[in-house]
Amino acid sequence: MMIRFYKNVICFSGIILISLSGLAQSKKPKLVVGIVVDQMRYDYLDRFWNKYSENGFKKIINNGFNCKNNHYNYMPTYTAPGHASIFTGTTPEHHGIISNEWYDKKNKRTIYCTEDSTVKTVGSSSEEGMMSPKNMITTTITDQLKLNTNFRGKVIGVSLKDRGAILPAGHKANAAYWFEGGNTGKWISSTYYMKELPKWVQEVNAKKSADKYLNNDWNTMFPINSYTESISDDNTYEGVFEGETSPTFPHQLKKLREKNKNFSLIKSTPFGNSITTEMALAAIVGEELGKDSITDFLTVSYSSPDYIGHQFGPMSVEVQDNYLRLDIEIAQLLDFLESKIGKNEVLIFLTADHGAVDVPQYLIDNHIPSGYFEKKKMSEELKNFCLTKWNVDLIENISNGNVFLNHQNLVKTNVSTTQIEQEIANFLLTIDGISKTFTATSLKASNFTENIDGNIRRGFNSTRSGDVVFVLASGWINAGYSTGTTHGSPYNYDTHVPLLWYGYQIPHGETTKKTVIPDISATLAVILNINAPSACTGVPIQNLLK
Ligand SMILES: [Zn+2]
Repeated sequence: MMIRFYKNVICFSGIILISLSGLAQSKKPKLVVGIVVDQMRYDYLDRFWNKYSENGFKKIINNGFNCKNNHYNYMPTYTAPGHASIFTGTTPEHHGIISNEWYDKKNKRTIYCTEDSTVKTVGSSSEEGMMSPKNMITTTITDQLKLNTNFRGKVIGVSLKDRGAILPAGHKANAAYWFEGGNTGKWISSTYYMKELPKWVQEVNAKKSADKYLNNDWNTMFPINSYTESISDDNTYEGVFEGETSPTFPHQLKKLREKNKNFSLIKSTPFGNSITTEMALAAIVGEELGKDSITDFLTVSYSSPDYIGHQFGPMSVEVQDNYLRLDIEIAQLLDFLESKIGKNEVLIFLTADHGAVDVPQYLIDNHIPSGYFEKKKMSEELKNFCLTKWNVDLIENISNGNVFLNHQNLVKTNVSTTQIEQEIANFLLTIDGISKTFTATSLKASNFTENIDGNIRRGFNSTRSGDVVFVLASGWINAGYSTGTTHGSPYNYDTHVPLLWYGYQIPHGETTKKTVIPDISATLAVILNINAPSACTGVPIQNLLK
């Protein structure tokens, strides 16, 4: 008998046996839901654990997979780079979203990450919808799903923030929707995606849910004296809403909305999460996501935790109350997905776009290293240093820890660019609050990949970043925040964020091995059996994949 072997076909002289495991297309989830919490440190899972419900964060961790040591691996840890990195599986070095807004050295002006003057707003007469993902220069996992399914898989992005909806949904999304505050109070989009809002979005807008929430107070969900994981409600570290005299509950939203840009006020309350969930659920129904066997992808970014975190700081009762309420939103979303589509048909992951540092004054008062960086003073000192040394004004822009030099003036000095970069980098090290500096020349030439130095290099984009990069000391933020806090550093409080997996083929377990944000898209590509995003630098998370 003659036996011949072809790839997956074994031929016994005329009888053909086909190896099904080799040829059959793999089973795939019907829907992937990527949840991003804007400004969520990993420790919030533990700190509030005893007060979470059984059906939100706890359900995911008790049944799904917890990557306990998951980090951002670049600086700056801001919203736009965070969302771009989760979904492109790489860092600003490659995807080009180097900040929320940055100095565009070619056009000599500051640009916003998702601005696009070639498109118009859909759903409002404002300019809030003149947005697209065109500044993100590599593909997303959502783009790859589109390419893989011949554009039949649907992709929808939802977030209060435009950048939180647009960047995750990628370049070929069916739609991205974000919330216009001010006196509008509606979900809008851009002509990049569509000519007019679909009926289901118009129906969500017609419900006026934001209006209803803003006509009530924000009070704590549980008795306020049970919030023992947070500092006392009345303290000097928190910012107040315009028109308030103390940062304390109840926050009387109905009274406050007029002085706080009306509908924009909802963003700084947990009810911003509620309208986001409402929109996400409406998208699943309205777009029939997860209905057929072709995988769809919904991205949901909860923006309110970031607004609340900035204003009140990580140790506030407001932040705790926000997380206890967000937990209920997550529970609602999970319940809906499981009952409508089925746990084994939906793949869910939850992460954050960055963490945050405790309010520096709170740290200072508790003898923990921290400080406020006088950026304006530094700018003047640096300008004078250059004038004295080379007799020309060399500083064109300083933003996001980048110094952009004036290259026309630089030529006039007759000194090499490398030397000037180095002298500026050395000078900056004499300024209070700066801990490290890097020249563009060294960043372009170097191969360092480890730890904080590696974070700087992975955040440095050769065509978009500045000529000298400086890093503030641990615990330091820019002065100007007399209350509240921020993020953006390469340190653990900004880089360590949750990464939870749940649903389709996800085993119960956890890993303490370090994972980094780009690993998310690398893992999704393996689970979905599709190509990873074009510049993906992540590695699939092994323990998660059976
Ligand atoms: Zn953010």
